[in-house]
Formats: sequence, C-alpha cells, structure tokens
Amino acid sequence: MSLFTTNYDVIVVGGGHAGSEAAAASANMGAHTLLITMNLQNIAQMSCNPAMGGIAKGQIVREIDALGGYSGIVTDKTAIQFKMLNKSKGPAMWSPRAQSDRMLFAECWRTMLEQTKNLDFYQDSVNGLLFNDDTIIGVKTALGLEIKAKTVIITAGTFLNGLIHIGDKSFGGGRAGEGASTGITEDLIKKGFDAGRMKTGTPPRVDGRSLDYSKMIEQPGDEITEKFSYLPTSKALTKQRSCWLTYTNLKVHDALREGFERSPMFNGRIQSTGPRYCPSIEDKIDRFATKERHQIFVEPEGWTTCEMYVNGFSTSLPEDIQDKAIRSIEGFENVKFFRYGYAIEYDFFQPTQLTHSLETKLVKNLFFAGQINGTTGYEEAAAQGLMAGVNAALKTQEKPPFILKRSEAYIGVLIDDLITKGTEEPYRMFTSRAEYRTLLRQDNADLRLTPRGFEIGLASKERLDRVLEKQRKTDLLIDFLQKTSVTESEINPILEAKNLALINQSMKLYKIASRPQLAFSEFYNIEKVKAFLKENNMDREIIEQAEIHLKYAGYIAKEKNNADKLNRLENVVIPASFNYSKVKSLSYEAREKLTKIQPTSISQASRISGVSPSDISVLLVYMGR
Ligand code: FAD
Repeated sequence: MSLFTTNYDVIVVGGGHAGSEAAAASANMGAHTLLITMNLQNIAQMSCNPAMGGIAKGQIVREIDALGGYSGIVTDKTAIQFKMLNKSKGPAMWSPRAQSDRMLFAECWRTMLEQTKNLDFYQDSVNGLLFNDDTIIGVKTALGLEIKAKTVIITAGTFLNGLIHIGDKSFGGGRAGEGASTGITEDLIKKGFDAGRMKTGTPPRVDGRSLDYSKMIEQPGDEITEKFSYLPTSKALTKQRSCWLTYTNLKVHDALREGFERSPMFNGRIQSTGPRYCPSIEDKIDRFATKERHQIFVEPEGWTTCEMYVNGFSTSLPEDIQDKAIRSIEGFENVKFFRYGYAIEYDFFQPTQLTHSLETKLVKNLFFAGQINGTTGYEEAAAQGLMAGVNAALKTQEKPPFILKRSEAYIGVLIDDLITKGTEEPYRMFTSRAEYRTLLRQDNADLRLTPRGFEIGLASKERLDRVLEKQRKTDLLIDFLQKTSVTESEINPILEAKNLALINQSMKLYKIASRPQLAFSEFYNIEKVKAFLKENNMDREIIEQAEIHLKYAGYIAKEKNNADKLNRLENVVIPASFNYSKVKSLSYEAREKLTKIQPTSISQASRISGVSPSDISVLLVYMGR
C-alpha cells in the first residue's frame, strides 16, 4: 500500500543531528526530500549533554556552517553559555563550545527545517528497506506504507535494536522514553552487511532547586563571547547562565562500588564497547582506583528550566546506588532526581563498508550517516549528515560526489578515518587526528570551505560574498603591515611596558607584529594604525586573521607544503576494478585489506593499517609511477 505517490529524490530516515543536517542539505541542493522520523517532537534532540562544540568538535560545527549547514546557526540561537576553549594555546587549538537550551535547540531546528523548501515531513518508524537487486528504491514503515525514493540516507542513531540498561533492568528503547527501531539491521544483514554492537551512557538529570551551590565553584562563560555561525545574522551572547564545579570523593566511590555486582558493565550483561573518552563514573573509579576525586560539572539544561545535567557522572548502576552515591557529593546532599542515568547498546555498521561519499559499497544509492557508522557525538553526526545529504542530492542530479580532503577539513579527516580504518569503539574527533591542524582552524573554516559549498549549490551567495570580503580585507591589512614602518618613539613605549628589548631604528610593522609576545591590539594607539583600521572598517575577525597569518606563517607554509605532497599521492588514482589478488609482491595482509577497503587513491591505501611503505612502492609501480 502507498499513500505516498511521490517518488522522492531523497528519503532521510531519522531526524537526529545527522538526519536534520542531511535533510536540510539535500533539500537546499534542490532535491525533493522526505524526512521520516519516529517522533517529530524530538527533531535534533540532544540525547546527552546539551552542548555543542568543544575541542575539535567546535571546528567541525564551524565547518558545517561554512558549507551552508544549520548546526552553527541553531547553536547560536539557543546558546546559554559560550567558551572559547584552549585560548592560551596556539590558534590551531582554539575550540568554541556552547551550552544550549535543550528544548529550544530542538524547537529551533524544527522551525528551520519547516522553513526549508523542497522538504516534506512524516512521523513513522521505518522497519524495512525496499531493494531492486543491489539498488535501494525506498522504505517500508511500521504503519505498512511503502515510500519510494531514488536515494535513502539512514541516520538511525542509537535506535537500531537499542537496549537500555539501568542496574539489573534492561528493556528495548532507542533513548529514554522512546522505542527501539527494528527491521533495518535485519534487512541490511540479509544484503550482506556486517553489523556490530556499541554502547554509550548518560548521567542523571536533577532538580537544580535541590542543590546547594554555595558548596560548588561557579563556572561563568567567557567575558567576550563569540559565535559559531559566520553569518552576520547570528549574534554572540550578551547574557549567560553559569555552570558549577564540584567533585566526587571516597564516600561517593564506596557507595558506587556497592552496586558493581548489579552493574550491567561489570556483570557481563553489556558486552559491547563504549566511548573511551567519555567513560562512566563506575569505569573511572574502577580504572583509576587510586584517584580520590573526579570533577563533576553541573550544567543548566536551559534558560528557564531548573533541570541540571550532572556532567562526569554517566552511569548505568541501579537507581538506589545512583541515589545514594550522588548524595555524598558536596552540594548534592538533598538532591531530587528528574531522571536516572542509563546505558544503551545499539547496532552499528563498520564504516569501511562505505565510500568517501558515505554511499554503501554493497547497495547503490543507500547512504549511512551518524552514530550508525560507529561515531559518537552530535557534531560528528551532523557533519556526516550534511555530507550524505549533499552526496545523495548530487547522485540524483547525476553529478560527481563531493569529497573533502584531509588537508581541507576536519570533516574530511573524519570520513577518511572511518571508511579507511573502520572503528572498534565509538569514534570521536580530536585535534590529534588531523595531521594539518594549523590549516584546519576554527577561524578560517569559511575561507576554506564556503567557496566549495557555493560551488555545489549549498552555501548561499551571501555567504560567499562575505568570505570574499573577509579575504580582501585580510590581504589589505597584511599588505599595510608589510609596507608600513614604525619609528622607535612609536614602538618603544609598547616594548618597554612588556620588558622587551627596545629598537633603535624604524622597523616594518609586520616584523614587530609577528613577535609572539605582542598582541596586535597593543598597536591600536599608534596613530597610523588607528587611522588605517578606522578608514578600512577593520573588525576583530579580520585583525585576528591577519595576526594569525603573520605569527604562524612558518607553520602554515610547512603544513601547506606537506599537504601538497600528500595531495599528489591523492591524485594517483587506483581503478575500482584493480585486482589485488594478482599482485603477489604485496604482503598477504595488504592484499586482504586492500581488497576489503578498495581505496580510491595511493594516499588512502597508505593509511590502511597493515599496508606497509613497501606495499605502497609496489602499488606505485603498478600505477605507472
Ligand atoms: P540520534 O541523535 O540518535 O537520532 C536518531 C534519530 O533517528 C532519532 O530522532 C530517532 O527517532 C530516529 N529514528 C531511529 N530509527 C528510526 C526509524 N527506524 N524510523 C524513523 N526514525 C528513526 N555523544 C557524545 O558525544 N558523548 C556522550 O557522552 C554521549 N552519550 C550518549 C548517551 C546516550 C544515552 C545516548 C542515547 C546518546 C549519547 N551520545 C553521546 C550520542 C549522541 O547522542 C549521538 O552521537 C548523536 O545524537 C548521534 O546523532 P544521530 O543523528 O546519528 O542519531
């Protein structure tokens, strides 16, 4: 039966962070898109921490925004606190992070999606997939509908055969209060896909009115706030809510240990792997048994709600244990629970089964994005969603896929890591995963990516014009600094105030400005600088960009050079039909892995674990190099 007579260009299954970006991207690229999700009230629900960004993740949100995605705009509209992390380190490490109002976040996403042309909505649960041989042609739903489409993107998050655990209780569910999704995994396994299990957990939420903040340390947001979206319509926060810091102690740890026997983590009921960098509190006290305390950040869930998120206390221990242990934390003596913490196990699919466009290798026109690919985190999910949305739309338009290189974006690193190496535990992004992090900064994501987003028809002309103007002004300022000299009398008072050696002849401004001990803001009072900045309407963003270029010119040039070398290998294409089994001079392991992953270039082949430099030399000879 089909009440849907339209043959859609793109069906997106699931309206989480991946699904929302996927639906927005494909619709904005002109593809007639249908978003099917179990509950339209929970669009882009933040299942865990109500925060976006953070180290390496903040860079991803800026990249999504630069390409024309919505996550940055929604975060700015719903933020209650902003921090630029790592500001004391070099600019490659600066990472924006914002706490959001959880309910506003979901509402704002839904409003933005409803205002997107070419996008239809439908609330139902997809419980089967429709194939024509090795091509997907649509989906089946729990209400018995069959809906056809040229391409399908699955973004089912933690819902595929989701199993929730609290102490000795476990029950089916995709997230607290929501049912699991069945049928999709089973259909994919029948098609030959390799599925696995992973787990993640979340802390309790408590009533902020029952906490004693006088025993905690206040954690206010930054005094000077910034924002995620490059668009001028997005505004930085002028008012913020504070978070609070407190600690666990030995009494808390003892109380938690009492529940270990009933813990699904320790009694063997949970077998799957959880996120290494986001361990549960029971995991922390077990692994770091000598540590006497762990940090607990108490974070508001919104502007008006009194619900608080207990960051650092993720647990699946029984409710009575959670209750007893948390009461021994300073400030929590009289706590009232809103929701208990829990763990969830779910199906994922090894991402080595995907190509760089996030299309599956086994079934044509079928794309996966988000937690289903073994990742964890809203930002990682949103980035994959955007890329899958773009590529599904391009596929329907019979255009080549849109692929970002490792030297172009964290998004490129994320996807290349996933499809080349696969993952045995929930994958999250770190700056250390990117070999060119001086190039992939949060401040220049627009310069790197907006022209590419515009080229494929996703980023607007308004975005592109803004970027071209930013580049023009930055070049103008650098040129001014290179051509303008300052006298001893102009610069020495600044050097003296910093206890730096004085100069005894005039000097070009760029030479002084590139010194790490001096911030450019210290030159604002030099008359010719002041006049130039005013005359050319130079704002903080432009000055920061020029300053980074001057101070880090050496590092940037070195990384660009290395990236160019890598990109030359990227251009050595391996034909899809290449038969590795015939190349006897390759090691057995290399032959096996190369056949499984089917790298598209020599560079990708070199990143597969088990493929050695000598295997690469052999391949280079075969590719005529
Ligand atoms: P989700 O946000 O899970 O969205 C999936 C969407 O698909 C939902 O709207 C669902 O209703 C819909 N859906 C599913 N199946 C179907 C179907 N068959 N038909 C129709 N609709 C369907 N991340 C971290 O970074 N750190 C953490 O500590 C952390 N802890 C977590 C703890 C818990 C308990 C949970 C549930 C998640 C946690 N996460 C954590 C993960 C984070 O929530 C996800 O990484 C992120 O939400 C993934 O986005 P997604 O779009 O892939 O999936």
